[in-house]
Amino acid sequence: MPHYQPPLRDMHFVLDELLDLNAELAQLPAHAGLDATTVHQVLEEGGKFAAERLFPLNQTGDRGGRQYDAATSSVTTPRGFRDAYQQYVAAGWPSLACDPAYGGQGLPVVLNNAFYEMLNAANQAWTMYPGLSHGAYECLHAHGSEAQKQLYLPRLVSGEWTGTMCLTEAHCGTDLGLLRTRAEPQPDGSYRLTGNKIFISAGEHDMAANIVHLVLARLPDAPSGTRGISLFVVPKFLPDAQGEPGERNAIGCGAIEHKMGIHGNATCQINLDGAKGWLIGEPHRGLNAMFVMMNAARLGVGMQSLGLTEVAYQNALAYARERAQGRSLSGTKASSAPADPIIVHPDVRRMLMTARAYAEGGRAFTSYVALMIDRELNHPDDSVRREAADEVALLTPIVKAFLTDNAWIATSEALQVFGGHGYIAEWGMEQYVRDARINMIYEGTNTIQSLDLLGRKVLMDQGEKLRRFGEKIRHFIVAQSADPAMAEFITPLADLAEKLVKLTAEIGGKAAADPEEMGAAAVPYLRVAGHLVYAYFFARMAKLSLTRAAGGDPFYQAKLATARFYFARLLPETAMLIRQARSGAASLMAMDFS
Ligand SMILES: Cc1cc2nc3c(=O)[nH]c(=O)nc-3n(C[C@H](O)[C@H](O)[C@H](O)COP(=O)(O)OP(=O)(O)OC[C@H]3O[C@@H](n4cnc5c(N)ncnc54)[C@H](O)[C@@H]3O)c2cc1C
Repeated sequence: MPHYQPPLRDMHFVLDELLDLNAELAQLPAHAGLDATTVHQVLEEGGKFAAERLFPLNQTGDRGGRQYDAATSSVTTPRGFRDAYQQYVAAGWPSLACDPAYGGQGLPVVLNNAFYEMLNAANQAWTMYPGLSHGAYECLHAHGSEAQKQLYLPRLVSGEWTGTMCLTEAHCGTDLGLLRTRAEPQPDGSYRLTGNKIFISAGEHDMAANIVHLVLARLPDAPSGTRGISLFVVPKFLPDAQGEPGERNAIGCGAIEHKMGIHGNATCQINLDGAKGWLIGEPHRGLNAMFVMMNAARLGVGMQSLGLTEVAYQNALAYARERAQGRSLSGTKASSAPADPIIVHPDVRRMLMTARAYAEGGRAFTSYVALMIDRELNHPDDSVRREAADEVALLTPIVKAFLTDNAWIATSEALQVFGGHGYIAEWGMEQYVRDARINMIYEGTNTIQSLDLLGRKVLMDQGEKLRRFGEKIRHFIVAQSADPAMAEFITPLADLAEKLVKLTAEIGGKAAADPEEMGAAAVPYLRVAGHLVYAYFFARMAKLSLTRAAGGDPFYQAKLATARFYFARLLPETAMLIRQARSGAASLMAMDFS
């Protein structure tokens, strides 16, 4: 049986010591009264909920799955999911980072983010139900009319109702410009929506009284392509005059998908047969409105992968300490036992350290991005808000793709630590690998993230956002240059920063002549950029740990050991990636597949 221990000490290290959360929050009037003690208390309670309530439902949810009843188009979630959700709602967890004007607690995104790491580590499939609701909340909060906000937000904030995002259709996934669902205006100002959506997460279930579907569709006069897509709110039950769930709307679940992982989450085909809905925001501007939700969801997917990385690491570590096979190459370590624990073997340690480093790097990076979102939302200075927004835009595709690729690697390495036992369901490791795989696909595949990073975020603004983030790295490097103990971290960081600048210029030049060059370089480019960001955060964590490890605290010694492993074993991947990115489009485009 797997286990999970919320990594609270690591979270405190990142939030308090690395990011100086207290000082950051003091600059944000909305959070000025919040101190580290309160943050710790919330995380401790949240960790208990994750570990004690959700984690025990993870394997049973995977095996029991969810049931679809065709006669009633209803979905029954796995045993225990509903009760856990009710407890989650009763404790006020859905409202943590929501606007107090709609019943929220107004706590910062960075705190909610850390909470979500623990929820996802404990049970990704369950966490998708409230996770999608939070995305729907953010979208309506940003783009809904005042009446829509008054009606839907308090119920999404309390968790009484849940939300979905309905984009995908059978013929249209990445290319949303192809979508066909139609919306006909009605005399009363509402719309009738007709069409079929597929792959809709949490699209139907028995956990909440109503489901608020956010649906992309086309108006009759819509231009073709992505410029002709509008966004609608389509509730499962039409709210009555008091706002309570009333008449059943003509939107429902036609089937659920049978899939590789996240079995506890209902992935639904959603049919709209003249369903009543209301336009959100401007006509034909639906994709822009949906982007609010998609950006939040992309950070959310990064947190799914961080949670899986951490829990897989914890279990692999425990197993490697116990499992006895072979003897250490440098001589017997457990002389009273017939064999040494496998943790003595260098390659087992490599696998463990890979997962550990990806968890620690990912936690530092995503906490930083979440804090930048808090700045973007709440800083009193307009220019600081704009700068933070630019950074979030630049870093979001890296969060989404780099963390999810790394979780695929990390969960697989963690499984490998178990040998054949990792492949057997009982230990829970194969579920982590299966669950991690979807994170690279939904919310825009990782290829699409890399095109977004290189094409839109870097080349389209002549590298300006990247340059400004690079300035932060450069300042840090300059500040450390007088400290010889930091040279082992700063030298490779500076080297990679320089190489990324050159690589960007080279690809930019080639892409101007042939756009295929951009498509051919984007995926390795994003991984190089991801490593640069991790190298920066590992160097910063090493700086803190160097001084603090002197006191003999093993926590900081472990932080230093992880940073050293990262620079020695994971960062060198960039040499290969840069060669791949530079190799151009010719070898990809030459084959005549006919
Ligand atoms: C379990 C699950 C849950 C999901 N949940 C939701 C949900 O809640 N709501 C929702 O709306 N959707 C959801 N999806 C859909 C998901 O977002 C899509 O599957 C995803 O966006 C990819 O679309 P597609 O599957 O049609 O693949 P395609 O778009 O057909 O892509 C196939 C391959 O081609 C590549 N490709 C496509 N276009 C390009 C391009 N222009 N350049 C380079 N490469 C390209 C892709 O990267 C991919 O590798 C879910 C899917 C799954 C499996």
